[in-house]
Amino acid sequence: MKEQTDKKGKVVIVSGPSGVGKSTICEKAVKQLNNAYLSVSVTTRPKAESEVDGEDYRFISEEEFKEQFNKGLLLEHAKVFGHHYGTPKDKVDEALQAGKTVILEIDVQGGKQVKMVYPDSTMIFILPPTQRELAERMSFRAREDAETAEGRLDEAGTEIAAAWQYYEHMVINDDLDQAVKEVVQIIEGSQGQ
Ligand code: 5GP
Repeated sequence: MKEQTDKKGKVVIVSGPSGVGKSTICEKAVKQLNNAYLSVSVTTRPKAESEVDGEDYRFISEEEFKEQFNKGLLLEHAKVFGHHYGTPKDKVDEALQAGKTVILEIDVQGGKQVKMVYPDSTMIFILPPTQRELAERMSFRAREDAETAEGRLDEAGTEIAAAWQYYEHMVINDDLDQAVKEVVQIIEGSQGQ
């Protein structure tokens, strides 16, 4: 993977365990930032009732995912909790050329890949205040069945351990507004560098 040296904007990677509130934080942060673009990933995961195709994700088939991957249309990709996820490259490139801050809400595997393409990416990891709080949030959102939710919780520890190694910023989502404020400050602070 070759870095694009002529880009004007910067990439921000936001990761964190399932249920930690990454999407809400990213949506709020993008509204508060000047000139930011929140990437919409493609996924083979089935759409939850609460989700909107084209807004939360572009929900695609395994075949379509394979095709996009083979054509080199994805900036990064990973298999997470049994489903494929990827970041469409064209939209990211377009936003970067336009000088925008591109926010990618992706997992740690994807974060590492993007950091290799864009070494000046800012990496932010969102942590829950406690493990118990994370479990409560997962059951409160009731997006997945109990077994899936349990599997995702089991993965949280592994993902947090990996994040300590790779992510330069850790933000605890104890109070939502405070967490959004911290994320916005980190992004604004990294833009001039
Ligand atoms: P969910 O199914 O809860 O929406 O997402 C599951 C995990 O996949 C989360 O950690 C989320 O950040 C990650 N994810 C979402 N989109 C992408 C993507 O495009 N690439 C990668 N690598 N991970 C993604």
